[in-house]
Amino acid sequence: MNMDVIVSLCKRRGFVFQSSEIYGGIASCWDYGPLGVELKNNVKRAWWRDNVTLRADMVGLDAAILMHPAVWKASGHLDHFTDPMVDCRACRRRFRADQLDAQPWTHYCPATKGNKFTVAAGEACRHCGARRTLCPECGKGELTPPRQFNLMFKTFMGPVEEDAAVTYLRPETAQGIFVNFDNVLQSMRLKLPFGVAQIGKSFRNEITPGNFIFRTHEFEQMEIEFFVNPNDTIDGRPADEVWHERWIEERLAWYQRYGIRRENLRLREHEKGELAHYAKRTADIDYKFPIGWSELEGVANRTDFDLKQHSQASGKSLTYFDEERKTHVVPYVIEPSAGADRSVLAFLVDAYREEEVRGEKRVVLRFHPDLAPIKIAVLPLLKKRPEIVATAQDLRERLARRWTTVYDDTAAIGRLYRRQDEVGTPYCVTVDVQTVGDAEKGEAGDRKVTVRARDSMEQIRVPLEELVTVFGELFDGAVWSAVAARYPAVKG
Ligand code: ATP
Repeated sequence: MNMDVIVSLCKRRGFVFQSSEIYGGIASCWDYGPLGVELKNNVKRAWWRDNVTLRADMVGLDAAILMHPAVWKASGHLDHFTDPMVDCRACRRRFRADQLDAQPWTHYCPATKGNKFTVAAGEACRHCGARRTLCPECGKGELTPPRQFNLMFKTFMGPVEEDAAVTYLRPETAQGIFVNFDNVLQSMRLKLPFGVAQIGKSFRNEITPGNFIFRTHEFEQMEIEFFVNPNDTIDGRPADEVWHERWIEERLAWYQRYGIRRENLRLREHEKGELAHYAKRTADIDYKFPIGWSELEGVANRTDFDLKQHSQASGKSLTYFDEERKTHVVPYVIEPSAGADRSVLAFLVDAYREEEVRGEKRVVLRFHPDLAPIKIAVLPLLKKRPEIVATAQDLRERLARRWTTVYDDTAAIGRLYRRQDEVGTPYCVTVDVQTVGDAEKGEAGDRKVTVRARDSMEQIRVPLEELVTVFGELFDGAVWSAVAARYPAVKG
């Protein structure tokens, strides 16, 4: 699938807009629109519920974005959080040296009188056999030797720039957890193993941002630091290694629980040379994005590196007292680190379907109900009939107390259904003439409405007063067919 299809749907239907668009936009910054903010909140809420609320061994945290600059020295970010950057001497474009061969390259082939070709990523020219040495974009310029470029955004704290202290926008949320290790441990009286979870913004001055919300300068992370006693063993194996495996499995299962297909997920083990300076082992969960397999989440074993660094630099002890062995230990930490924006993109891509219904194309986002930005749409069949409109609006108000519910009367019913399919609304409720009857003719309504399911497009007739119960069951995970079997079907 093409990323442009998703970008265009996101703009058209209010999921994601280019930031500062009326000023020509700002590169790689995006704003979440009315449906995008609901979707992203739902992703974060599902993550928080499954990883914090439902677990007895996890607590939450919301640390500040601005931290003491000494944090970044101790964590290694000041010295090591860099990417190798090269410049083209001809067109002046910049590239990450380690990603140069992951993109197609422009080649003026000497074997074909200098004709211009685009050669696939990492491959040699089929005419002359040459490999890329020049700029992949313009195909002409020499590239400078790589320079290390620090990805942290620098800023100043205090009113006068020259006197003020230099500080940084955090490039990851993790450090806020490490420096609060003792506060959390003492205030919550925790026993190992336990985890601290946090969702929040991070900032990286990426050399080559892009691909929509996949790589941006400002993004949101959903991170867990899961602390393990390094002296513990589970079935004879080091506990940190076992917990690492458990977290990899749990995180893979999580994406599938909310609808991502297994064949679009893969695990990629970091090789020795690729491992971060603090990591004993890292496995990435990759997703098959429209740009190819790319990282969705990293699950790293950071050992005791961070706690030791901060303890040394701050002079404060960051240890745990092991009652059984009567010793102080520095816990090891397993870190499942996910991107909220990349998750949103993966959920959007995976939910997108183009189907043919009675000879017409239907675009539908098959979101898991927990993630769908709108849960229910209440639609009046005729907006000229005041009783229909009043009943529908009253119904919207009632349902909105529990589920995000919208009312829409701006088009004919077929069009309204298509709009809701396109934004992934699991259920539509239609109020019609039969529901309200006709007072002038002395006809009472049946006080029933039509409920339509997004995926099967089946419709059933449900009494108004049973709707809350029906939706309660459906959003609690009951299957549609089981609920639908209790009510008469309506022909579409
Ligand atoms: P990449 O190799 O893609 O630069 P990374 O390995 O540097 O990513 P981590 O430091 O492991 O990323 O960050 C954890 C998660 O945060 C990533 O898996 C991703 O989901 C998210 N993330 C990191 N950088 C960005 C970014 N620039 N834009 C959006 N999300 C990001």
